[in-house]
Amino acid sequence: MGNKNKTNMYVDIISLHNEVTGSCIICTVRFPDKEKIRFLIDCGLFQEENYQLQNFSFPFDPKEIKFVLVTHNHIDHVGRLPKLYKDGFRGNIYASKITSMLMPLALYNTAEILSYSFQKNPNKYKKIIEDASVPVFLNNDVLYDSKNVEEMLSYVTGKEYNSTFKITDNISATLIPNAHLLGAASILVTISYENEDPIYLYFSGDYSPNNRLFDVEENNSIYNLPINIVQESTYGKTSKDTIEYTFRKYLLNSIKNKETCIIPVFSQGRAQEIPYELKQMQQEGLLDTSIPIFADGKLSYSYTNFYLNHSEFLKKEVKNFLPENFNFVKDNIEREKLLTDRSCKIILTTSGMGNYGPAQTYLPYYISRPKCSIIFCGYTTPDSLGGKLKQVKKNELFNLNGLIVKKAANVYSTNEFSGHAKKEELLNLLRKFNNIKSVIINHGNTDVKEYYAKRVVNEIAPKNVALLDNQNYIRIYAYGIAKTFKATDINIRYRIKLSENSLSFYF
Ligand SMILES: [Zn+2]
Ligand SMILES: [Zn+2]
Repeated sequence: MGNKNKTNMYVDIISLHNEVTGSCIICTVRFPDKEKIRFLIDCGLFQEENYQLQNFSFPFDPKEIKFVLVTHNHIDHVGRLPKLYKDGFRGNIYASKITSMLMPLALYNTAEILSYSFQKNPNKYKKIIEDASVPVFLNNDVLYDSKNVEEMLSYVTGKEYNSTFKITDNISATLIPNAHLLGAASILVTISYENEDPIYLYFSGDYSPNNRLFDVEENNSIYNLPINIVQESTYGKTSKDTIEYTFRKYLLNSIKNKETCIIPVFSQGRAQEIPYELKQMQQEGLLDTSIPIFADGKLSYSYTNFYLNHSEFLKKEVKNFLPENFNFVKDNIEREKLLTDRSCKIILTTSGMGNYGPAQTYLPYYISRPKCSIIFCGYTTPDSLGGKLKQVKKNELFNLNGLIVKKAANVYSTNEFSGHAKKEELLNLLRKFNNIKSVIINHGNTDVKEYYAKRVVNEIAPKNVALLDNQNYIRIYAYGIAKTFKATDINIRYRIKLSENSLSFYF
């Protein structure tokens, strides 16, 4: 690398999301010959009610996007890829091999939910969009359908972990194993040009250093690179020491009282981790194998079968993670039986926040039963069914979709199963790098991002620390951040509160 004119090549980055859902990072590379290449890291669906409208349009031309790199198969990271395709994107989509195998399950399911919700209420968004202050291209149409999913999936290429692949003449990428979810990757993007220092961008994605079900292989080759790190910060304010391991206590207490114990779970991840936890409890003699365990949810059934059929990805001791006396609920008849049956049992049901899937049947029914405990073991938004059930006090009457019911069941929650690193683990990841040029804090509530950014400045002391949001570009050169500036071409202006019963789907 001879003559280094460091002002010739840069990348501007901005996100479509400000906080945690609708993950989509837009990177615009400007090469010395003035060529521009724009690519995305993830293209997720917004799940909060307040942001539903944002799902319907992109504040850029999808045809301009050259390629997309996918970190993992959560719907708030991949759920808008079919919409991107529908709106004209025709580039390659790169994901890990495992994620490329899992994506069809998530996306066909989402298309089904979208079609169902649209048929139920085709005019839901029409009025809101007429009221919007900016043009939104909706045409009173479903967000996307299974045909869009099918066509979009033909652009997906599964890549091996830790093997660098070339995307364009000057851009290559490496997928680094990440324990957040089976198939998850952190992504190293290398942008190079003749006579220029390469720009190294490292996107952590949703990150966890370890997982109950599988191991990850560390890649030490990245730690000496002069690197710009875009890091998630979901739990950037939470210390490991404050996590309370209460799941077993709640569950065993419920079983001791001969109750029905309902556990809402996310279809991928939690729906496999909880059975494994129950199996361990059986093996340790804590949970009697005579207590039947049921799992209800079509998508979780597909994922569980994927995990069982691909046990080569799992830890040796986990390969057979299903506990004894474990039964899938196959149809409505079996589900109804579970609703009327009074005997002691455990029911795992999707979705994790209670808004979708059979949880919509179990939770309203069991919430008014005194001999029942409901244990949430993942995040619930305040406006989700799970969030509402948590907020109401025990024995209080409340309005559940127009029905006045008494909260007689015990409702608990635990965050011990979280798939996100806590603040010490996030800082430890940064400590592995020996030549950090900048750290850009992403994927967290605003107060958390700010708190965590201060910790990074104090404890890691990289040259630059910035917060990623949907208003400002961060301009990065090989040597780090040059400046931040207000975006004028990408503008998220509309944010409209929808009515009570608006579309929501959580996994
Ligand atoms: Zn995730
Ligand atoms: Zn995420």
